[in-house]
Amino acid sequence: MRLQDKTAFVTGGGSGIGRAATERFAAEGATVVAADVDYEAAVETAETVDGDVFAHELDVRDFEAFDDAIGATADDHGLDIVLNNAGIMHDPTPMEDLGRDALDRLIDINVKGVWNGCAAALPRLKSQGSGSVINTASLAGVIGSPRLSAYSMTKGAVVNVTRSLAAEVGSDGVRVNAVCPGVTETPMPKSGRSDEEWEEMASRMAAEYPLGRLGRPEDVANAMLFLASDEAAWVTGQALVVDGGFSCA
Ligand code: NAD
Repeated sequence: MRLQDKTAFVTGGGSGIGRAATERFAAEGATVVAADVDYEAAVETAETVDGDVFAHELDVRDFEAFDDAIGATADDHGLDIVLNNAGIMHDPTPMEDLGRDALDRLIDINVKGVWNGCAAALPRLKSQGSGSVINTASLAGVIGSPRLSAYSMTKGAVVNVTRSLAAEVGSDGVRVNAVCPGVTETPMPKSGRSDEEWEEMASRMAAEYPLGRLGRPEDVANAMLFLASDEAAWVTGQALVVDGGFSCA
C-alpha cells in the first residue's frame, strides 16, 4: 500500500477528480478527509468510497474554516497530504464579455482557495518536517486558452505559486507540486450542455488528443497518487501535465 498510515485532505472531494483521488488514496491505505462546499456530495463520496473516508463541509474561500479543518484533521488523524483541488471554470467567453463578478469568483476560488489551503497546511507540515501538497492547476495554466482567459490566468497562478512554495519549503522536508489535466470527463466540462451536445463535443475534442480520448478522473488521480507517495520523494515544484499528449501535438 503506497499511502499506508498517511492522511490526506482533499478539497473538491465531492465530485470528479477530487472523488477519484479520494478513491485512489483510500485504496492505497490513506485516511481521507473529502471536503467540499457541497456537503451532500462530500457525504456521497464518504459513503461510496471504500476505506477510511470522512466528509467535511468547506468553502475554500474561507481561510479560517480551512485552517480549522486542517487543524482538526491533523489533531484527529495526522496530516501528510493536502490536495487543493476545488475549482470552477467559466463558459468560453471573450474577455470583454466576462463580468467582474465572474472574474472575482474565479480568483477567489481557484487562486485564493489554493492559497488558503497552502497557508493552512504548510506551517503544520513544516513543523513536522514532512508532507506533500498537490495543487490542481490545468493544461490551461501552461498553454494559452482563447475565451478561457480568466480561468487560464487563475491556473497559471496556481502553477507558479506551486513553484515558489516548493522552493520556499523544500528545506523543511515538504514537497509542493501541481497537476495540469487536459479535458477530463467530469461534471465540469459537461456543465450547461445536453448529453448530445457533450457527446458531439467530446468526440471532436478527443480527436485532437494523440492518445485518442479525453481524460478520465482516474488518469488524473493516478498522477496525484504518484506525487502524494514516497515514490515522488525527489519531485517538487513541478507542474505535471496529464493531457493524453495534447500539448505536444
Ligand atoms: P467538478 O465540478 O466535478 O468538481 C469540482 C468540485 O469542487 C465540486 O464538488 C464542487 O462542489 C467543488 N467546489 C467548487 N467550489 C468550491 C469551493 N468554493 N469550496 C470547496 N469546494 C468547491 O470538477 P473537476 O473536473 O473534478 O475539477 C477539479 C479540479 O480540476 C478543478 O480545480 C478544475 O479546475 C481542475 N481541472 C479540471 C479539468 C476538467 O476537464 N475536468 C481540466 C483541468 C483542470
